[in-house]
Formats: sequence, C-alpha cells, structure tokens
Amino acid sequence: MAEQLVIFDFDNTLIDGNTDALILDMLPMLRNMSMNYDKEGRGWGEVMNSALEIIAQNGLGKADVDECILALRISEPVKYMLSMLMADERTDLIILSHSNEYFIDLLLLEFGIDKSKFNGIFTYPAEWNDEEQLRVRRFYEQKLECTYCPNDFCKGYFLKNFIASVEDEKRKQYSRRIYVGDGRADYCAALSLGKSDTVLYRYGFALHRLISLNCENNGTCKDNGDSPKYVCWKDFEEMKEKLISIINSSLVFAAY
Ligand SMILES: [Mg+2]
Ligand SMILES: [Zn+2]
Repeated sequence: MAEQLVIFDFDNTLIDGNTDALILDMLPMLRNMSMNYDKEGRGWGEVMNSALEIIAQNGLGKADVDECILALRISEPVKYMLSMLMADERTDLIILSHSNEYFIDLLLLEFGIDKSKFNGIFTYPAEWNDEEQLRVRRFYEQKLECTYCPNDFCKGYFLKNFIASVEDEKRKQYSRRIYVGDGRADYCAALSLGKSDTVLYRYGFALHRLISLNCENNGTCKDNGDSPKYVCWKDFEEMKEKLISIINSSLVFAAY
C-alpha cells in the first residue's frame, strides 16, 4: 500500500468542462432536467439515464454522444501530473466522479491516459444497449440523505468507507490524503478528511464558495480542529505545481 492517497474529481477538475452539462445541452428539452430532481426523490444516475433515453429517441446515436463528449480536453499539465503520480510508488490514485464510466473511459483513452494505472475509478456504471442508448445506473441502490450530493452517490460517504476498507485490509493508514475538486459534492468529501490531509479547490467554483462560506481563514471547517488544509488553484498549471509539491513534501511531517 502506498503512503498517500490522491483523490480526483473529474468534471471541471481533470477536464475543463462538464460531461453531463454538455449532454443536457444536446437538446433544448433536456435543459431543465437537472432542476429539482432531488426533490422528486430521483438520483443523478436516473436523471442522466432519462436524458440519454430522450437523446436516443430523437435519433442521436453513439457517434453523436461521442462527438459531444470529445469536445472536452485533458490539458497538458494534467497529463503530465497524472503520469508523475502513476509512476510514484508512494502514491495511490483514484477518481471519484458524478460523470459515468463511459464518458471517463472515452476521454482517458482519447488523451492516452492508461486507466489501469488508477487504483480505482468510482463513478456511475454505464453501458450501451442495442438501441444505441447509453444506460446509466445509480451508484448506490439505497437512498442517502446528503445536503451536498445526489441521493444515489454521496462522495463523503463513499470516501470514508473506501479509505476505511483499504486501511483495514492493509492494516496500515495513509499518512495523508489529497483531494482535488471543484463542486458541491467535493465539499462533502472534504468534510470526511482530517488535519493531515489537503483539499485543492478550484478558484471561483462551488467548492470554493462553500469553503469561503463555512470556513474561517481558509482553514478550519470543523469545530474539533481536525480540518484538512485548503489550497486554491486557478488553472491546470497551478493545480499541477501545487499537487506535485505537496506529494513531494515530507510524509513524516505530514503524518505527524
Ligand atoms: Mg467537478
Ligand atoms: Zn455527500
């Protein structure tokens, strides 16, 4: 087991843009689907599945969906940073995302990133059916109550359980966890981290607003002094620089 764990969000973090937002832009009738879905008790997987069903019914097939998603880019600094992390034996690497398996695989493949080098990619299951519809399923079958996440995929709940099960199995704790993200659900994940951990948040996005609202001096988001350290990034070059410098800083000190 590696000594440190890096967790990446995908949309607006590893890529510049949002896969699901592009899909909901494919047809005018889809644009309001993301509103109030949770009040109706639906999960995000169900919302995207319905959207993709309508897309298929309107005669748009796999080639159209691929073209839409492949408008997104994984930047050079992100590619470089991932290759560094993948080669670093002290570091475990996962993606935790509300996109889906198919979109993430498609973009990683397009930009030459070997997905087998991740220790896990946790996102909505998705596969094409015979009618050229991408079927997206819930991540969790049970409904989870969370202020920040869809009811079918709470990032904080997942991360807490994931880390506990890895540490349990290896009978060893990560010295530190580093979380990179931009959105509301990433705030939920950040709340599950502790004082030896770091959250790298994207400037001007929802996670930044939640940190500004709930944290004093960019530091203490929890009352018990167990808050992770919050570090801002504005562009992919800065994310890469800051992440690599954290990864290479002394683990003994961070663990203490
Ligand atoms: Mg995101
Ligand atoms: Zn949550």
